[in-house]
Amino acid sequence: MPDRLFLVAGQDMAIDLGTANTLVYVRDQGVLLNEPSVVAINTNTNEALAVGMDAKRMIGRTPSYVEAIRPLRDGVIADFDITERMLRYFIKKVHRNRWAKPRIVICVPSGITGVERRAVEEAAYHAGARNAFTIDEPMAAAIGCDMPVQEPTGSMVVDIGGGTTEVAVIAMGGVVVSRSVRVGGDAMDERIIEWVKKEHNLLLGLRTAEQIKMAIGSAYPYHNEPSAEVRGRDLEAGLPKTILLSAAEVRAAIEEPVATIVDAIRYALDNTPPELAADLMNVGIMITGGGALLKVLNYRVAIETGLRVEIAERPLQSVVVGSGRCLEQFDLLHGVLESSGRF
Ligand code: ADP
Ligand code: MG
Repeated sequence: MPDRLFLVAGQDMAIDLGTANTLVYVRDQGVLLNEPSVVAINTNTNEALAVGMDAKRMIGRTPSYVEAIRPLRDGVIADFDITERMLRYFIKKVHRNRWAKPRIVICVPSGITGVERRAVEEAAYHAGARNAFTIDEPMAAAIGCDMPVQEPTGSMVVDIGGGTTEVAVIAMGGVVVSRSVRVGGDAMDERIIEWVKKEHNLLLGLRTAEQIKMAIGSAYPYHNEPSAEVRGRDLEAGLPKTILLSAAEVRAAIEEPVATIVDAIRYALDNTPPELAADLMNVGIMITGGGALLKVLNYRVAIETGLRVEIAERPLQSVVVGSGRCLEQFDLLHGVLESSGRF
């Protein structure tokens, strides 16, 4: 194929197309982009006004004709056109050399359909990919957490993202058991808003709720629990008001989504073949994704499963790092990649 002689290889990249954040890893360079998966659209003209960080800043502050959209919000591609625009924008942002055609591995939520998967690959080709592959989130996460995915020993990884939680038991390069629920950090934010509205008559924005969760949210009681001053809009007076919110209240508010996540883990354990279950008794469970940073979640999961629980070293990056490793060790790991076969 002589046309390929003129293509410059290199700048191969791995992309974690997450429901909350998109990260891009460039081969031999590391993570070069880490931005929220948000696009701000002018609904009059259908024009994208901002993507990523700039667009997230607009959530809850936009005039009526601007809408800040999270196209992957619930772990499915709710708006394909916008997902594609976002993906192309991010690829172009890191891909400086227009003549070099990169190989691109994209990690997608495992709940998306075959059609959506091909559409994601197609978006990568439009953005200039030489080859595009997709990889399932739990597999990428496990590789990124240095778990021995190719060995006969079973490994369990739990990836708690914004819109979804994915639980998988992996052995010999394949997913043996998996469970995916459409509950993650977003559901916790929404519950905090509902709680504060009901108990304190105060209206909070989504970003404030997320900040409260990160600052004082927890999955189990712990020592010296703090409180936080929270500012919102009083429902009756309509004016700004500040209240004191305790960690115990926040824990109560987010209990349901936390319990759903723990149940998904227990369901996967119940469905794990005995040999692999015995392995998990030894090696324990790895939790990753931004949700793994919720305080004492590891402790809660350990208590409810009786297994040892480890938090990934960099929970927000394990998926992109794992996808990146597939690029770098392509010959060894390409068995875990999927491609619609366009070369
Ligand atoms: P996705 O893969 O779906 O894009 P991420 O793995 O990037 O999701 O995780 C994003 C989620 O993690 C968000 O809901 C965010 O609020 C949550 N998160 C991030 N840091 C923390 C923290 N310190 N405590 C609790 N939740 C957190
Ligand atoms: Mg993720």
